[in-house]
Parts: sequence; structure tokens; C-alpha cells
Amino acid sequence: MIGVLVTGGVGFVGSFLCERLLEDGHRVICVDNLQTGSLRNIGHLLYNPRFEFRPSDVELPLSGIDNIQRIYNLACPASPAHYQADPVRTMRTNVLGAINVLELAARSGARVLQASTSEVYGDPEVHPQREDYRGCVSLSGPRACYDEGKRAAETLCHDYARQYGVDIRVARIFNTYGPRMAADDGRVVSNFIVQALRGEALTVYGDGSQTRSFCFVSDLVDGLVRLMEAPCYMARPCNLGNPQERTILELAERIITMTGSASRIERRPLPQDDPTRRRPDITLATRELGWAPVVDIVEGLGRTIAYFDERLRERRALSETLANLVRPEKVGIIGDADEFAALTAIRAQPPAARATNVVRLETRV
Ligand code: NAD
Ligand code: UDP
Repeated sequence: MIGVLVTGGVGFVGSFLCERLLEDGHRVICVDNLQTGSLRNIGHLLYNPRFEFRPSDVELPLSGIDNIQRIYNLACPASPAHYQADPVRTMRTNVLGAINVLELAARSGARVLQASTSEVYGDPEVHPQREDYRGCVSLSGPRACYDEGKRAAETLCHDYARQYGVDIRVARIFNTYGPRMAADDGRVVSNFIVQALRGEALTVYGDGSQTRSFCFVSDLVDGLVRLMEAPCYMARPCNLGNPQERTILELAERIITMTGSASRIERRPLPQDDPTRRRPDITLATRELGWAPVVDIVEGLGRTIAYFDERLRERRALSETLANLVRPEKVGIIGDADEFAALTAIRAQPPAARATNVVRLETRV
């Protein structure tokens, strides 16, 4: 058993990573400020004695964390809608977050894995993207806070490795999807599935000819753990993603078919600086980590659709229940913030009452 710190562990990817590390027998400390993560994602882990959740921000020094051997730094909103809502905060999270994580690593000797991104390649002129491609990134556009923030975090990792001997790994993560994405997250897979299940139009930005390569979350988590445990020469950046490339229009049509929805497709303006093509070259990960994705798009989307279907049903049921308890005008779609408020109220109750309520809430929300 080793001690592992996961920043951003309440989020979509982070919650699956915490789960995997606990299954592997480790002790896990999760630091998260709940900016985009929902406590629902870790509700089932809260009573595990090897799991500890510390609500905190990585912009602040990470103090009082002892006896850890690994740090996965995932704290940062990943959806363009969220990271662009407060770009200065996004840059602070990436830069100060990386410094605080690397300072802790320098003090404790823990190995760090930095969750970087395919966005470091920007709107790439090289296709597919290999790790030695240096990218084509706007430093002034709306995505720059995230792209340049992640690039700066990578640089900090290499500088702390050279200057202070910190043992680092850098994962360049390509578009990942799966259960536990927030329904209102704004990323394409969750948007399309929720729209299709609600019978609303699927919002395709631009003509839908831009491409992405979608990786299922369990494949990514396996790649992250393999990279973390790889030999030290893997300090160089490593792509993790599914190389099966498809257009956004094709994704929309596939989701309409798989959900059996009557939804149509509606065109919206293409956001500024939206990358045209994106596909990882995963030769390095396959050769050095023995890693390749195993979940294909049909299975992955099927599992994600089933998750959102259940979530939407639960939300409708909760809306109806709450409508009987609170003023009707306050009840619409129950969002993650409402869930958090409900969970916080329950956590303030005595433990005996809390246990039954949390179970009831988890099955309902
Ligand atoms: P997410 O938004 O679901 O999770 C991010 C988590 O970080 C959330 O729980 C959020 O509350 C937390 N967080 C944000 N700012 C924080 C701060 N300052 N202090 C503490 N916690 C903070 O996103 P995700 O999809 O789970 O992504 C996880 C990581 O992987 C991110 O670093 C992201 O940049 C990277 N990544 C993800 C993808 C993808 O497709 N999912 C692709 C490339 C890179
Ligand atoms: N997109 C879309 N409709 C949506 C959300 C996104 O057409 O409702 C497009 C977006 O313009 C981009 C792609 O889907 O070309 C992937 O977007 P996402 O925000 O998921 O991730 P990105 O790879 O752009 O960071």
C-alpha cells in the first residue's frame, strides 16, 4: 500500500482514478475545490477508511499531507465552457497548482503525474499528433488560458525535475468521455447524449467536419496508472487517447441512432480557435507502457448513454419529490449545485441519520 494524492479527484476522470487506486489497495487523499466536480462522483468512496476527501484549492500550498509516494495532478476544469468562464482563474489553477504540487513533491520525494492535454498542440498542422510536435497555439485567444496554462505546467514539471530532482510523468490526454461527466458540462459527448435523451436538437458547432478521437474513461485511467509506474525515462510527455478519429457530425448521428431519439441536428457558430483535427499517435504509449485502448465507441457510448439515462430519470424523480417540499418555482432541473447543497445538509446531521440519508440520496439524485 502506498499513499497517493489525487488533485481534482472529485471530477469525471479523477473519481474513476481514485476508485482504481483504492481497488489497487492504496491510501488515497483527494483534494478538490468542487469547481466542476460533483460530490456524487465520490459518494460511494466517502466511507472507505483508506479514502480521505479534503475540500481545498490547489492555488493554496498543499500543507499537512504526509506519507505520500505519488501525486496525480488533475485539478483543472476540462470543458471549454468552464475553463473560459474565468480564464484568469484557469491560468492560476494550472500554474499555481503545478507549483504547489511540485513543491510538495520536492519536499516529500513523491512522484508526480501531470494531467496535460492534446490542447498543447493547439490547432495542429501535424497529423496525427506525436509527442515531439511543438504545437500551434494561440496565446491570446479564448482557449489560451487552458492551452498555455497546461503548457506552463508541463514546463514547470521539467524545471522541477532538472532543478530539484522531482520525479515526473506528463500525460497528454486526448478527448475522454464516459459516465460521471456532468450533464451540464458543455463537452460534446455529454451535450449530445443529454440533448438526444431529452428530445432536444443536437447542437453541432460549425459544419461538424472537425474531428476528435474519443477515449473511454476506463482506458484512460489504465494508461495514467501505467504511465505513473513506468521507468524514469518516461519523464518525457506521453500521449494517451484513442486513435480512432471521427467527425463531430458523425458522432451526433451515431448518438441519435443509439438513443433512438427523434432529435434533429441544429447548426451553431463554430467557436473561435476550435481545433480542426485531432488524433493521437500512441506509438510511444503502446511500445513503452504496453497500453492501447480496448473499449470501442459503441460499447463506450452505450455505457455513457445508460448512465445519463439513469441520471435524467433520477433528476426528474427528485424534482417531483422536491416540488412537494419546497416552493414550486424553485424546482426545475436539479443541478449539481443543488446536489451539493443537499449533501452538505445531510453531512451536517448525526452519523446514524446521515448514513441512511446519503444512501437514499445517492439512489435518488
Ligand atoms: P473535470 O472538470 O470533471 O474535473 C476537474 C476537477 O478539478 C473537478 O473536480 C474540479 O472541481 C477540480 N478543480 C478545478 N480547479 C481546481 C482547483 N483550483 N483546486 C482544486 N480542484 C480544482 O475534468 P476532467 O475531464 O475530469 O479532467 C481532469 C484533468 O484531465 C484536467 O486536468 C484536464 O485538463 C485533463 N484532461 C481531461 C481531458 C478529458 O477529455 N476529460 C482531456 C485532456 C486533459
Ligand atoms: N461541439 C459541438 N457541439 C457541442 C459541444 C461541442 O459541435 O454541443 C464541438 C466543438 O466545437 C469541438 C468538438 O465538439 O469541435 C469537441 O468539443 P469539446 O468541448 O468536447 O472538447 P474540445 O476538444 O474542443 O476541447
